[in-house]
Amino acid sequence: MAKENWEAVIGLEVHAQVSSETKLFSSSSTEFGAEHNTQVSLVDGAMPGTLPILNYYCIEQAIRTGLALSAEINKNSYFDRKNYFYPDLPQGYQITQFFEPIVKNGKIFIGDKEIRIGRIHLEQDAGKSVHEESKTYIDLNRAGVALMEIVSEPDLRSSAEVAEFMKKLRQILRYVGSCDGDMEKGSLRCDANVSVRPKGSSEFGTRCEIKNLNSIRYIVQAIDYEIQRQIEILESGGEVSQDTLLFDVALEKTKVMRNKEDASDYRYFPEPDLLPVEISDEKIDSIKASLPELPEQKKQRYIEKLSVNEYDAEVITSDKSIADYFEELIKRHEAKISVTWLTVELFGRLNKAGINITDSPIEAGELSELLDFIVDNTVSAKLAKQILDSMFETGKSASQIIEEQGLKQITDKGQISEIIQEIIETHQDKVQEYKSGKTKLYGFFVGEVMKQTKGKANPDVANLVLSEKLSD
Ligand code: ADP
Ligand code: MG
Repeated sequence: MAKENWEAVIGLEVHAQVSSETKLFSSSSTEFGAEHNTQVSLVDGAMPGTLPILNYYCIEQAIRTGLALSAEINKNSYFDRKNYFYPDLPQGYQITQFFEPIVKNGKIFIGDKEIRIGRIHLEQDAGKSVHEESKTYIDLNRAGVALMEIVSEPDLRSSAEVAEFMKKLRQILRYVGSCDGDMEKGSLRCDANVSVRPKGSSEFGTRCEIKNLNSIRYIVQAIDYEIQRQIEILESGGEVSQDTLLFDVALEKTKVMRNKEDASDYRYFPEPDLLPVEISDEKIDSIKASLPELPEQKKQRYIEKLSVNEYDAEVITSDKSIADYFEELIKRHEAKISVTWLTVELFGRLNKAGINITDSPIEAGELSELLDFIVDNTVSAKLAKQILDSMFETGKSASQIIEEQGLKQITDKGQISEIIQEIIETHQDKVQEYKSGKTKLYGFFVGEVMKQTKGKANPDVANLVLSEKLSD
């Protein structure tokens, strides 16, 4: 059988770090990049006699996320202990939600396809083992940081769908602000469960779980490799064994970390140091009311209310920071001019320089000011592009550049008339030719006006005066 005869089945367990200044059960800071072991309280270090205190901000973020994914909020959830030993887990157990997660039955659409989210639960992250030469060090800064574990049903069928799913999820998390989605910082990572089955079959095959993938590129590579590996095993008459795998990014291969035979028994039981989490309808309603407009709604609004075309609406809403920028522009300007100057002019320059919109040297307010000058005819669109170049390079404002370089457009009719009068006098021969029917010469006169004014004559005014004078 060839590859086309198999179908992949994939389900994801995504870990999204909650954007909270403090940890799930302690007031230690969660700031990224601090010195080792400087953000560790007695609770995080599991000193005997200390007790966890639930950070309700994290509960709210999980609810926000659940609502944004059209999920059910569990009004009676609680925490459980998952017992295991690991050097970077000082408690000897992880506090998680096993029996009653805080969120159930959500969904994400990739195109028209619905991917079900079975559950989202809250749990604490472990510390980190830092290996250096022959030594291993433990860093507990991450110990106790709040994670949302977002578990999809096995509805995904290819690495491409998984990539789309991850991007969509990241987009939504960033919109609601519950997780920054920065995969390179480890704020968003996933375990991918992969199995294959003969096409047309309705049963699932045996799956393997690839742990801790932290970039979309690696997720795609790991899944593609794993699908191929399983197909080869099955085609040669073998059986897939249910293993936990790691992806070796250098070799671009998955390798076995542990087998199902040594699967741990975690002895889950309800966490006795914490009360159950009760959430009222009022609380859910107030969080619902505080949710921002989500990407899909925003896109529809741009299309329907602002007549933005579908493609541009998709581009602008793809990232919250782009949408925020656009919103700032349309506070003062028409959608049409805002779309062009954002997606063509600014993006063109950002892409060329390899800069992300969040690091744009030109802020929305500054671009908005340049648009003011275009709209009120202070500068032509052509000149505005040069000004934008200078703004990009120097960080100066549009008004500063216009002032310094004397770029103000000439809109005064009297002043333009004088210039045109002179041109007509020096080119009497051309005027005669024009009047006797050689109307193509019109362009010559326009060219002269622009030459004399260094391109600063307002084209509308210049045209008006020119046609008046030439028809005298
Ligand atoms: P467990 O509790 O053993 O980890 P779950 O039922 O919670 O199992 O599933 C974990 C993840 O594995 C989910 O994302 C689910 O969609 C996925 N999954 C389950 N069965 C399969 C399968 N046969 N092939 C691929 N993914 C699967
Ligand atoms: Mg699992």
